[in-house]
Amino acid sequence: MKLPIYLDNHSTTRTDKRVIEAMLPYFDEYYGNPSSMSHPYGWAASSAVESAREKVADFIGAKPEEIIFTSGTTESNNLALKGLALSPLNKKRHIVTTEAEHPSVLNVVRFLERSGFLVTYLKLDQYGMFDPGELEGAIKDNTLMVSLMAANNEIGTIYPLSEIAAICQEKGVIFHTDAAQAIGKMDFNVSSIALDMASFSAHKNYGPRGTGALYVRQKSPKIRLTPLLQGGGQEKDLRSGTLNTPAIVGFAKSLEISKEEMPVETERLRLLRDRLKEGIFRDLEDIYLNGHPEKRLVNNLNISIKNINIDHLLSELRDLALSTGSACASGSPEGSHVLKAIGLDQSLMKTSVRFGLGRFNTEEEIDYTISRFTGAVKKVRNKNL
Ligand SMILES: *Cc1c(COP(=O)(O)O)cnc(C)c1O
Repeated sequence: MKLPIYLDNHSTTRTDKRVIEAMLPYFDEYYGNPSSMSHPYGWAASSAVESAREKVADFIGAKPEEIIFTSGTTESNNLALKGLALSPLNKKRHIVTTEAEHPSVLNVVRFLERSGFLVTYLKLDQYGMFDPGELEGAIKDNTLMVSLMAANNEIGTIYPLSEIAAICQEKGVIFHTDAAQAIGKMDFNVSSIALDMASFSAHKNYGPRGTGALYVRQKSPKIRLTPLLQGGGQEKDLRSGTLNTPAIVGFAKSLEISKEEMPVETERLRLLRDRLKEGIFRDLEDIYLNGHPEKRLVNNLNISIKNINIDHLLSELRDLALSTGSACASGSPEGSHVLKAIGLDQSLMKTSVRFGLGRFNTEEEIDYTISRFTGAVKKVRNKNL
């Protein structure tokens, strides 16, 4: 069977061959436990992890001591939010976020709400954007933290991190960001943005699945987190469990590649995405763009199609690996929580399609996608709804 063209790079990405290459010796030759300090097997693994930590830190402009390796953004978000909120030293009980966050923030916030925290969900406009003035007004004496994503995984909208960070800093509240989609797609540097914590995964940027990091700024007063996992005390007691050396090495390699190739790659993705968008909008009527027209991820296109049976459309498009809404939310009968949060019409919510472009997509693939997609929409629209 010929596999479909992969256009679902917001869910996950193909691991770059150079990353796999870098990982292999750490399964086989250097298989020691990085916590074993009594022999060379452990030393080799430990030095690989520490060198990876330096590279990950370097990529975001952090210090190595500020990086905690985790299993990915879901865990990092949990550690940032629950770790801070449930710390015995924390007395504050209010959190600010939006309803367009990833479930790994939203469901943690809802859990905290059930545990007695108060949550303010900022109002979102049709582009998924909020008013910074409203954020400022939402922060109270009792506010512990603001958690707002760097870029939305469904509609691609990019939040003004510097502006948010400045407001939070001024008000003395912690600012956490879910940067899963931002890493490798846009500038993200904690030395120029005063954010306090950031979560990200390796696999959204051509690294292996199941690894990632939480950045925690070293500042005074110290950000005190309570660990989610107790055990052997790895990662400064914040994340017990044997470190996944091969994955961590691969994670660092993926960022080394991005550091080198990002300027060219993001421009290429932007051009491909614009080509796809123009191709679709040129040829079809009654198509609506979801997300911000300019402030959006270079590789994201999310559209809603008027008057179509989305299941019929997808079954016409088996040779394209697409997503409707979010992979994390698909299967939910209510449709995308993000599209709901931006107030999209019920009918357009159910007919949204997300294209997530990536490193391995070619111009030929995009041209093929345009012709297949526009052809399928016309065909399905002409049938009954
Ligand atoms: C993918 C994603 C996550 C979850 O990452 P995992 O690696 O699955 O834990 C969280 N937030 C955003 C914005 C994402 O895109």
